[in-house]
Amino acid sequence: MRQMEEKILREGTVLPGGILKVGSFLNQQIDTAFLREIGREIARLYAAERVNKILTIEASGIAIAAAAAMEMGVPMLFAKKHRTSNVDGNVFSATAHSFTHGTDYTIMVSRDYLLPADRVLLVDDFLANGAALRGLIALVDAAGATLVGAAVAIEKRFQNGGDRLRTQGIRVESLACIRSMENGNLVFDTVSRAGDPA
Ligand code: 5GP
Repeated sequence: MRQMEEKILREGTVLPGGILKVGSFLNQQIDTAFLREIGREIARLYAAERVNKILTIEASGIAIAAAAAMEMGVPMLFAKKHRTSNVDGNVFSATAHSFTHGTDYTIMVSRDYLLPADRVLLVDDFLANGAALRGLIALVDAAGATLVGAAVAIEKRFQNGGDRLRTQGIRVESLACIRSMENGNLVFDTVSRAGDPA
């Protein structure tokens, strides 16, 4: 999605440790017109897949997931994060490692909201090592639901999480794919698809 690349180039900041800051439009302040475009693009990519639920993790995935869910006309469900594994009964839970905080945490969703008949699309803001998506996949598997694929706003391909999932046969779409960002120099892997917006 060319708009995503342009936005990152204009407004993103590369921080030490391989972190891209996009607080001006995605992670703290949200550019709502752009958010709508993100939702439309994710809906377009997965239009043929009969998705009936979108799953993300609180907090930074929620806005994008909600935008995509509104476009697709389906519910959006977010996994809650807890730092301990002390979770109450009626939930599916999994452990994930936070790339940005360097700690492990438990994610959980109520068994009432993730069902065996669900065809689930995972949505998140960033894909780095893939721990967040792997945690969500564990929840989908625990529920006996069907995983349709994943859509992320920004993939940092140099951390290999996306390619590891693709190798497992999981469809992973990223709206901008960063090949490298050494010394603050952003290089994209631009993927062009039929029907891409200009
Ligand atoms: P992963 O689990 O794939 O290693 O990392 C994905 C999660 O870490 C995302 O949910 C996102 O919140 C956070 N994350 C990873 N890399 C970045 C980054 O460069 N910038 C920001 N803002 N968040 C990141």
